[in-house]
Amino acid sequence: MAKVLDSFLKENLDDLKSKGLFNVIDPLQSANGPMIKVSGKQLINLSSNNYLGLATDNRLKEVALKAIEEFGVGAGAVRTINGTLELHTALEDKIAEFKHTEAAIAYQSGFNCNMAAISAVMDKNDAILSDELNHASIIDGCRLSKAKIIRVKHSDMDDLRAKAKEAVECGLYNKIMVITDGVFSMDGDIAKLPEIVQIAEEFDLITYVDDAHGSGVLGKGAGTVKHFGLSDKVDFQIGTLSKAIGVVGGYVAGKKELIEWLKVRSRPFLFSTALPPADIAACKKAIEILMESTELHDRLWENGDYLKKGLKELGFNIGDSETPITPCIIGEEKLTQQFSRRLFEEGVYAKSIVFPTVPQGTGRVRNMPTAAHTKEMLDQAIAIYERVGKELGVI
Ligand code: PMP
Repeated sequence: MAKVLDSFLKENLDDLKSKGLFNVIDPLQSANGPMIKVSGKQLINLSSNNYLGLATDNRLKEVALKAIEEFGVGAGAVRTINGTLELHTALEDKIAEFKHTEAAIAYQSGFNCNMAAISAVMDKNDAILSDELNHASIIDGCRLSKAKIIRVKHSDMDDLRAKAKEAVECGLYNKIMVITDGVFSMDGDIAKLPEIVQIAEEFDLITYVDDAHGSGVLGKGAGTVKHFGLSDKVDFQIGTLSKAIGVVGGYVAGKKELIEWLKVRSRPFLFSTALPPADIAACKKAIEILMESTELHDRLWENGDYLKKGLKELGFNIGDSETPITPCIIGEEKLTQQFSRRLFEEGVYAKSIVFPTVPQGTGRVRNMPTAAHTKEMLDQAIAIYERVGKELGVI
């Protein structure tokens, strides 16, 4: 290894470790269901984004296996050469139906999708108004576009309006976009979409909503935009197929011309191999399940409310989440990591989330209850929280 790289790595890794900011990865020895096995230990899993339990659903497994038998395990090429199977176009049609838009385009991941979509439309002569708590993939997508990035205070509509006005009046930009997460994953709060859309209409802003954590969760499953009845008012509806949908991939849903443009100009679509058959088939099945019934969605909310109530009654600071995401805010980074470690030892897998994922001093253990948890699992988790919380002086 080059000496310069060796010293760079040592210095920075040591620094992270000494500050308690080094994230240790525990490989799972089981499927990522409501119970998981890690280091030989059975744990109640409160860390996945598998909101509806679909990652292990037998109906998805069945269509995935069938797709493998018929189409193999790989798509074989990028979408624009000959990697587009009929399965891809069927999935995209289903996503458009699910999102109440004219068309949709699928990408290999939600992260990829933000890198692809923002830079396909925005360039150095444009500006992007981006909520300061937007996801890393939005930040990177904005950077890639070379547009001027204007950070907006989190969900602060006065700040958004003032900055939109300034950006328009300065006359420097051809296009201006406003980007927000639909649901903010670290706190579980919902973007103020009606106000955002109103400001966008006033200043002719392009609207871009990344609903990775809202799809399957809000709007009876159809997402945050549908929740507010704004399906025809948002230009880019972004989603991931890896959380509530339970598989992998990302998508943009919107007007036909927008999707046509993304198909000719977004680089991951043009230059990275298409999603494999099993995944596409499973994603389509998951969306069909969501469109047929709200049963999983309703169970997710019931479980979320139950866990929140239990932790709040014990005296934990669970923030102001408006969705099933249940942060348990501890504060100091090392204590947060110690808390999560003790939960692990007692039988709960709830990962600590610390700086730089969240601001310094707001370390938290984030709980993601799912439709697949039973009341017994949640009761057991709450009892463990109580024990560890008292032991570490958090409650
Ligand atoms: N956007 C948001 C808001 C996210 O939370 C995530 C997932 N962490 C992504 C995009 C990336 O999605 P994926 O995991 O499918 O790449």
